[in-house]
Amino acid sequence: MGKTGTFIALEERYGAHNYHPLDIVIRRAEGVWVEDVDGKRYIDFLAAYSAVNQGHCHPRLLKAFRRQAARVTLTSRAFRNDQLPLLCRDLCEMTGYARMLPMNSGAEAVETAVKAARKWGHKIKGIPDNRAEIIACEGNFHGRTTTIVSFSTDPQYRDGFGPFTPGFKMIPYGDAAALAAAITPNTCAFLVEPIQGEAGIVVPPAGFLRKAAEICRAHNVLLLCDEIQSGLGRTGKLFAYEWENVRPDGLIVGKALAGGFYPVSAFLTSDEVMGVFRPGDHGSTFGGNPLGAAVAREALAVIVEERLVERSRELGEWFMAKLAAIKSRSIVTARGKGLWIGLVLNRPARPYCEALKDEGVLCKETHENVIRFAPPLVITKQELNWALRRVEKVFRGLDG
Ligand SMILES: *Cc1c(COP(=O)(O)O)cnc(C)c1O
Repeated sequence: MGKTGTFIALEERYGAHNYHPLDIVIRRAEGVWVEDVDGKRYIDFLAAYSAVNQGHCHPRLLKAFRRQAARVTLTSRAFRNDQLPLLCRDLCEMTGYARMLPMNSGAEAVETAVKAARKWGHKIKGIPDNRAEIIACEGNFHGRTTTIVSFSTDPQYRDGFGPFTPGFKMIPYGDAAALAAAITPNTCAFLVEPIQGEAGIVVPPAGFLRKAAEICRAHNVLLLCDEIQSGLGRTGKLFAYEWENVRPDGLIVGKALAGGFYPVSAFLTSDEVMGVFRPGDHGSTFGGNPLGAAVAREALAVIVEERLVERSRELGEWFMAKLAAIKSRSIVTARGKGLWIGLVLNRPARPYCEALKDEGVLCKETHENVIRFAPPLVITKQELNWALRRVEKVFRGLDG
């Protein structure tokens, strides 16, 4: 097994066992390709859960990162820096939101949205103090903090981690009537992924988000979209909500926002909602740091200048058709949008992911029986074809 075994043994011995990774130890990567410690090359069809939409170690991001790292990396928000204002402007202009609040991880940006919505509910909407309710969807994934797992419906994410944060109500994903029925005068927000990623690339019925937006508007409830994974080009639109022509009241972004170089996330919203935060209400030592801000600006510019959104749409349509055409008794369906495709099997997906790895294609199963295909958006048609031939081979082999 070469060096791979040595690294795995060390991590198993000293690391927490909170993941079950494929047995590949990556030492370097470029674009859509990664190389393991034994020199074997693989094509990356996970893209770090869509955090490297721009491709691994993008040269422009590397340059921006190095340049800023040699100047100033962290000021904290006790002082200002000359990069955050530029990121605020670029991200707001690109998305059309009035204001942004920078954080680091996705979960922190979700927490920010939850806090903003609750405070807006109490201070502006007039909900009695400590009574604000947020509606979320079954099957959601919004992160791993104790508050966020409080409204997860995955038993494993919650088991042993209570007591949980109250104030969340669940509805079935894609059910607009259930949303309408769940709203009370104390509802401040509806938090939703336009397409559920971790649940297995679950696309809700057409019109769901549109109806949800109308229901929210009618009841003065904020529509908050978590686009941490679905955003920044992944689905063939800059944001997945554009597929339904809606305009959420709050937008949560992360992952690809800094192209995998740095954890940068943000909550974007209106003047009115962001206005609930006063100095001292909320913050983060690293949030808005100049290194992350400089890389994030460059990462956004790469998405636009390399036409990654259009690439995702065009190549995604083509790849989906190819996957759907694979004849196999184990495939139930292929679903998704853009280069974000879930291949649903009628059996566990893990053996297929293991076999694909041996063929040089890195994918990860999600929820037992779904293989997620989500390569960096810089992938070429030739590279997709290369992977496709291996996918076909694996299905021929394992289906017998
Ligand atoms: C990954 C993800 C998160 C959490 O982001 P972290 O950076 O891991 O905290 C939240 N929501 C969605 C939809 C995600 O895909």
